[in-house]
Amino acid sequence: MIRNIVTEEVHVLGAGLSGLAAATILARSGKNVHVHEIREDSGARFDGDFQGIENWTSEVDFFDELAEWGFDTNEFKSDAFGIIDLIHPDDVVTHPETDGVAFRVVERGTSSHTIDQGFKRMALEAGANIHYGSRRAPEDCDIVAAGPRESSAVAYGEIFETTHRNIVAFQLNDKLAPGAYSYLIIIDGIGLICTCLWRKQRNSGRYLDETIAWYEENYDLQRKPLKRVGGKGDFGLPTKYEHEGRYYVGEAGGLQDFMWGFGMRYAITSGVLSAKAILGDFDYEKEVRNRLVPLVRASAINRFLMNRVGDRGFKMVANMWMRDQKRNGDGLNFMRWLYKPGLIRRALWPMVKIGMLRRKVLPDGRIVHRMPFRKSLNRDIWEPSERARKIREEWKGVRKGGGTLSFQESES
Ligand SMILES: Cc1cc2nc3c(=O)[nH]c(=O)nc-3n(C[C@H](O)[C@H](O)[C@H](O)COP(=O)(O)OP(=O)(O)OC[C@H]3O[C@@H](n4cnc5c(N)ncnc54)[C@H](O)[C@@H]3O)c2cc1C
Repeated sequence: MIRNIVTEEVHVLGAGLSGLAAATILARSGKNVHVHEIREDSGARFDGDFQGIENWTSEVDFFDELAEWGFDTNEFKSDAFGIIDLIHPDDVVTHPETDGVAFRVVERGTSSHTIDQGFKRMALEAGANIHYGSRRAPEDCDIVAAGPRESSAVAYGEIFETTHRNIVAFQLNDKLAPGAYSYLIIIDGIGLICTCLWRKQRNSGRYLDETIAWYEENYDLQRKPLKRVGGKGDFGLPTKYEHEGRYYVGEAGGLQDFMWGFGMRYAITSGVLSAKAILGDFDYEKEVRNRLVPLVRASAINRFLMNRVGDRGFKMVANMWMRDQKRNGDGLNFMRWLYKPGLIRRALWPMVKIGMLRRKVLPDGRIVHRMPFRKSLNRDIWEPSERARKIREEWKGVRKGGGTLSFQESES
């Protein structure tokens, strides 16, 4: 397609990571870039949540890639980890580790050290115009970077003060996190305990209460709750990434990790690819299909397999991971292997499409194969523990005292 914007304005919908990455590259190349953001600031979708930028979908360290694209990784705070506590469903704890960087924890939100504000600063310095509190029709934009639309899964977390050292713990547990996992991240005296629900639940807050109770029992947290956070993830594979001349990037384009929900790297990468395509470097559709879609598909196939199993399957995965680490001496190998398309995964794809995804025509005419929010199972209903009930009461007190909630829990 020959675009007619060589000297004209470029309009980007959404000032999240994907939109800001695209805007920075375009503005640096002299384009007149306008970013339209419905919220009052970049990162306002979040509120101090910690997230991990993964380093396993490519052999290249993501920070090296960012530097190559001209992004300054010192613009935001990040903490690199090469080891985690992997908590198996039967509470056994093992330690996947690598000599390199497995992932980096960054903060999301509107504080100046967050990745969102770092990318905002870089976009502004490059000369992009960001219009906050602004609406624009997607049809009037060149790049659609508006994030998730619907929910395929949700996550709830609590942020607290703690005296515990920095740590990342990752728990595969079908009871506390139906169909998914929970995690504990502590950075410099601030902790986040989060549980992800990949099956839709009523009274969803109780999963977080019970998860907090579990971590409190197993880690010396001395926890002082501050606020609760969360959000939704939209998992769907569109049939095309360029539609009527518009490029769909990040989660708006379904460029998100179906397996664990690690979407930041896809968001930034696709934002960069869209900008480079506008600058004439390559064809966006082709580049995304070569570079990102195989990873998203592999993650969808893994998700399909994960949806079939409960704790027994999770235990198997945790054991496989540790066996692989023993054999290869590097815990990151297993994660890399999970994203390699391979013959078996490829053979499973037609089954995944039929068994897990539902075809949907979006209002803009695009067709997407979405993963619907799965229904709850009988085993998701259980009696809360005494400690979890107390944590709920404690949270009510924090809330009355001004503790904020950035993502609404579902009602009972
Ligand atoms: C609780 C939670 C935990 C997560 N943890 C991780 C993690 O550990 N690691 C990881 O890599 N990923 C994680 N993710 C996923 C990651 O946050 C997203 O995949 C990533 O932020 C997507 O970036 P984006 O630019 O596509 O969308 P966003 O970051 O959502 O940005 C989209 C922007 O568009 C704006 N917008 C929406 N609609 C409009 C409109 N109509 N007009 C104008 N603007 C609009 C929004 O306000 C937003 O600012 C997590 C997500 C959640 C919810």
